Amino acid sequence: MDRAGIYIHVPFCRSRCSYCDFATGTFEAALAERYVGALAREIESFEFEDARTDVDTVYFGGGTPSLLTPAQVSRVLEAVRGRFRVDAAAEVTLEMNPGTVTAPGLRALRAAGVNRASFGAQTFDDRELKRLGRTHTADDTRRTFDRLRAAGFDNISFDLIAGLPRQTLAGWERNLEEALALRPEHLSLYLLEVHEGTPLAEQIRQGRYPSPDPDLAAEMYRLLVERARAAGYEQYEISNFGLPGRESRHNLKYWTGAPFYGFGNSAHSFDGRRARWANERDARAYVKLIEEKGDAVVSLEELDERGASAEALFLGLRLLSKGVDLAAHRARFHSDVRADYAADLARFDEAGLIEIEGDVLRLTPAGALLSNEVFAAFV
Ligand code: SF4
Repeated sequence: MDRAGIYIHVPFCRSRCSYCDFATGTFEAALAERYVGALAREIESFEFEDARTDVDTVYFGGGTPSLLTPAQVSRVLEAVRGRFRVDAAAEVTLEMNPGTVTAPGLRALRAAGVNRASFGAQTFDDRELKRLGRTHTADDTRRTFDRLRAAGFDNISFDLIAGLPRQTLAGWERNLEEALALRPEHLSLYLLEVHEGTPLAEQIRQGRYPSPDPDLAAEMYRLLVERARAAGYEQYEISNFGLPGRESRHNLKYWTGAPFYGFGNSAHSFDGRRARWANERDARAYVKLIEEKGDAVVSLEELDERGASAEALFLGLRLLSKGVDLAAHRARFHSDVRADYAADLARFDEAGLIEIEGDVLRLTPAGALLSNEVFAAFV
């Protein structure tokens, strides 16, 4: 039986980046302390029928979880260990921003059980970092990386963003060379998206920056795939690359339909079968709900069989090498994908976006680039 993953949302940042529309706000020490208390209470009182107790991944995401003190991270982990049976070899990831961690702080996080760092490098070009409103420099990234290694972190992931305002293909190539030279165990790629209501959307509207160029972003994606493969990374998911055996075990839960339970504001959960639920989005309102009611769930959705089948299909297709086992899919959802989507599959096959090998349906490299068009057919 699948073991569950635990997601902990930490909604604080040092300052707001110009492109970000996540449920985060600026760090306030007093609110952070109350928030950690609310997290611990929510975790300790977590209950629903058939909840799994065996857990093998814990992921602190945000926001900037590294703004919490190691003692606060440790308190949350203690609550998780008190409520769930956490595997001794569990993957425990904490997202960090360069420049927000000290050497003693990293050693304390390791001692608390954090064994993987997901690291918001974004770009190694200081001008691009400044345009994004990031508070760190490329030197901070290199220094933090060295500190992580010195503190014993042997599983580090970099986030990189492609398609930044005024970013050129040559600039992106230099970025990749810098990132790959450090040899993190894992790389996650984000293509810049412009969200309404963000400062970046306004700057583009005012003509200060050009709109993102999708053709250039596609070139950047291709270059990353080529360079990462040549450097020994496996592209196991559309936007994720790992050295052998270093896939993100936590993120694999999202794509394989395993159960995951989210705690904190805006956190989402899935029971591993049909039910999804989500917490209140605002951090202060979340703390108030937990303090007053012990519960902050504001939406619950029960997928029907067709919805669950479609979701499993498009999530499974994200796993490029594994793909979707159509026989297993039929056994689980009573859905014959070949018959139900015959016309779409023929169209995608003709366009070279998918391949079917025996019972396995996969995206091709061209399909990975146009994955949203393929997924749209299933939803
Ligand atoms: S650090 Fe991350 S979560 Fe925080 S504002 Fe920047 S992009 Fe958003």
